[in-house]
This record gives sequence, C-alpha cells and structure tokens, in this order.
Amino acid sequence: MALRDTLEDLFDAILPARCPGCGRCGALVCDACAATLVRAPIVPPPPPVAWWTSCFVYTGVARELVARAKYRNERRFLVLVARELAGAIEAVPSATDLITWAPASAARIRAQGVDHGEVLARAVARFTGVRVAARLQRATGSAQTGLDARARRQGPPLRAIGRVDAETILVIDDVATTGGTLAAAARALRDAGAQAVFAATVARTPQPGGDRDGPAYTPATPAGIRAPNSMNSMRSTWTSSSAASM
Ligand SMILES: [Zn+2]
Repeated sequence: MALRDTLEDLFDAILPARCPGCGRCGALVCDACAATLVRAPIVPPPPPVAWWTSCFVYTGVARELVARAKYRNERRFLVLVARELAGAIEAVPSATDLITWAPASAARIRAQGVDHGEVLARAVARFTGVRVAARLQRATGSAQTGLDARARRQGPPLRAIGRVDAETILVIDDVATTGGTLAAAARALRDAGAQAVFAATVARTPQPGGDRDGPAYTPATPAGIRAPNSMNSMRSTWTSSSAASM
C-alpha cells in the first residue's frame, strides 16, 4: 500500500493537473469551475446522527470531483476532497475521539479492490490528527446503489465492531443521498455505547422533496459535550502542487 501510494504520488507529480470540470490544464479545479461549486446548505441530520456537515451540493463539478477521487482513484483528488472535509469538520460541536467509515459491501470492495470510504476516512484522519479505526461491519449483499428511496433511507444493515462506550465518533462518507447509511451507522454505534455520532460527507444530494422554506435549522450542541478539540486548520487551496504532496 505504501509503495503504491508512493508510485501514485510520483505519477501525480509528473502528470499535469487537469480540471475535472473543463479539462483545462494547470489546476486541480480551475477558478471558473471552483466558482460553480455550491456549498451544501445546513439541514438537520438524519437521527440519530447528532451533527453533520457536507462540503458541496452533489452536482456539476462536485460530482466529477467525487468520481475522480472515488471511482477513478485519482489520488490528488482524494487528497483535495479529504482536505475540504477536514476544513468542514472544524465546525464539529465537540471533541471527536475517533473517525470511522460506513463500509462498502463485500462485493463492491472485491470489485474495486479497496473500500473508498476507508481510504477517504484515513485521509481525513491524517489531516485532522484524529484517531481512525474500523468500527462498523456490513452484512453481505447489501449494496445501496439501485435501491429505491425508501430502502435507501433505511440504510444498509450495519453493526458495530466491539464496544465504543462514551466515545464521540465521526463517520466519514463520500456522498449522502437520503442519509440512510449515516443513520444506520449512527444507530449501530449508539447501540454499542457511543456518546454521540457525527457525520461528514464530501457532497450531499439536494434533499428529495426538500422544502427550501422549511424551518431554519441551527446546529445545536448535543447534550453532555466537551469543549471543541483543535483539529488542525487545513484550509484548501485549489492548486495541484500542494494537494498532491500529502
Ligand atoms: Zn475548470
């Protein structure tokens, strides 16, 4: 893994960066395309997730960013979205003890050779300095892609690995659609003793049937919370050299 990472970094350093939005050379995301990225609005998290954040609305260039980082395994885009996530979770309402991820189905991991959720979570952990570990298991044959909205809202069958008593856990994922996966992760972790479960995704689809004029949501500090921790400040720049050098 380390050797492969090194080789990928070398290739990233040699190959020119191309904007995923317009294909222009020279920047990971050019200024014009970066200007089209839409920050995800603040909406209530799916219970029992106590707090969540998302960098972008899952549309346009943001979709392409996620695809590059995930499906095409382009490491510099992975680093870029991980850094965006690290910046977004600076707003977390209390100290985070552990970062984890909602595991992909065994079939998907076999097909892709890697669990992209894990790769992303570990990259975010490197930026934040927060401990990262596998804390969730998934039943076999439970890929979410292709399920109808109701089934997706239920989320995949997940269970915690061991006890996570009194820990505040941050679940990282690439895209939230209905929030079902994150809710399932939070249920499993709360059942295993977690004090609170937060979630962060690179992107979020526009709420299906969402009411733009609905009641305002202000992220509240969940009960029994400690002082915020000091996650490293890693604001993003959209240039290729710094993003590729993690
Ligand atoms: Zn562009």
